[in-house]
Amino acid sequence: MKYVTTVIIGAGQAGLAMSKHLIDRSIDHVLLERGEVANSWRKERWDSLRLLTPNWQSRLPGYAYRGSDPDGYMDMPEVIRFLQGYADHIDAPVETGTNVTSVRQADDGYVVATDCGTWRCQSLVLANGACNVATVPGIAEGLPPKIRSLTPKQYRNADQLEAGGVMVVGASATGVQLAKEIQDSGRQVTLSVGEHVRAPRLYRGRDIKWWMDVTGVMDMHYTEVDDIKRARRVPSLQLVGSPDRATLDLNALRESGVEIVGRLAGIRNGQAQFSGSLGNQCALADLKMNRLLDAIDAWVSANGMDSDFEPAHRFEPTRIDAAPSLAMDLIDGRVNTVIWATGYRPDYSWLEVPVLDRKGRLRHDGGVVDAPGMYVMGLPFLRRRKSSFIDGVGDDARDLADHLCAYLGGHTRIAA
Ligand SMILES: Cc1cc2nc3c(=O)[nH]c(=O)nc-3n(C[C@H](O)[C@H](O)[C@H](O)COP(=O)(O)OP(=O)(O)OC[C@H]3O[C@@H](n4cnc5c(N)ncnc54)[C@H](O)[C@@H]3O)c2cc1C
Repeated sequence: MKYVTTVIIGAGQAGLAMSKHLIDRSIDHVLLERGEVANSWRKERWDSLRLLTPNWQSRLPGYAYRGSDPDGYMDMPEVIRFLQGYADHIDAPVETGTNVTSVRQADDGYVVATDCGTWRCQSLVLANGACNVATVPGIAEGLPPKIRSLTPKQYRNADQLEAGGVMVVGASATGVQLAKEIQDSGRQVTLSVGEHVRAPRLYRGRDIKWWMDVTGVMDMHYTEVDDIKRARRVPSLQLVGSPDRATLDLNALRESGVEIVGRLAGIRNGQAQFSGSLGNQCALADLKMNRLLDAIDAWVSANGMDSDFEPAHRFEPTRIDAAPSLAMDLIDGRVNTVIWATGYRPDYSWLEVPVLDRKGRLRHDGGVVDAPGMYVMGLPFLRRRKSSFIDGVGDDARDLADHLCAYLGGHTRIAA
């Protein structure tokens, strides 16, 4: 058994940002990482993925992007180098190749079992990621057996798919990016669209992420939100980080030839059935996008900066077919593959502490888990709207490290 004051599970951006704050506060700790630093970016993303956040927004405590292309978007090798560089820079005490297999409460702390031995600690930070598992709705069980079903974690590139049609379910960042790539590979894509968040890549000459940053949208605190449960479930923006800084909304996908249909409501007798709510979903997404643009325009005017940017304008509403398909045959051979871009969730199957609610979600208040000395990081809107982003974990790590320090101050440290 090894002893340490704090165990951090996971060496992605969240674990590393917390490590930096613990180093600054002289709290001895270890990061237990089942793979290598930045493992999720190394192993769980598709080949062509680039960050949808611009390079200048890759900021971690005491470290930031310093390359020659601040407005570009990192590809995966660059993200891995960036995070590994950070781990080296702060000299993070990472134990790689160490899979945490169980965590249980012990007197005044936790026992963390791994495939490389057991650790005893007083406080624990769960930085194991918000996207460990790709969620697939129960209706997937109705798929005819000859249809190949893939999650974004299994998808690497279009070459891995047979010829023939592909249905992508879900139109948030992952769904629109995969739909475009697969359509461009020569396969006919049908994109099933439910609730989504439309956003232009550029507005008034600046990246939408720049606007959301300067206007304070990303800094919004979880205590300021009326319905935080709902805010934590809001889908990701329809964005892609491409060298041409193109917008990837449903209009752009239609122009590429993607067929847009409504939310997948069921699969019965080999037929996919789509909801008739596509028009409403698109109108709502347009309305919300325009509200964001209104807020940006108001901020520009309030700061007397109208002449500093291109004039305000609005984008064409989302175009949909007059009568979008409400059903699609899944046995006539036109569709061979379904990709479930229907979201992600964390995996806490190894957590033997009673801190999960009925839906398997962690009970926490802004990252302070409902168990003594236990913290979580990296979940959507954990403390701020930016919490799950590279640019957001730093502020959360600072707040939670302060809380952890105060907690330890009131507790005797474990003797080694
Ligand atoms: C497809 C996709 C695109 C994204 N694009 C962007 C973007 O453009 N910009 C941006 O800012 N954010 C983006 N994000 C969101 C977010 O930045 C990433 O999800 C990021 O990986 C989260 O960092 P993290 O440290 O919280 O978790 P992770 O990077 O997932 O790190 C968690 C670590 O914990 C380890 N781990 C998990 N379980 C165990 C265990 N039991 N034992 C030991 N180790 C374990 C994992 O191996 C992993 O290394 C994207 C997310 C996804 C899914």
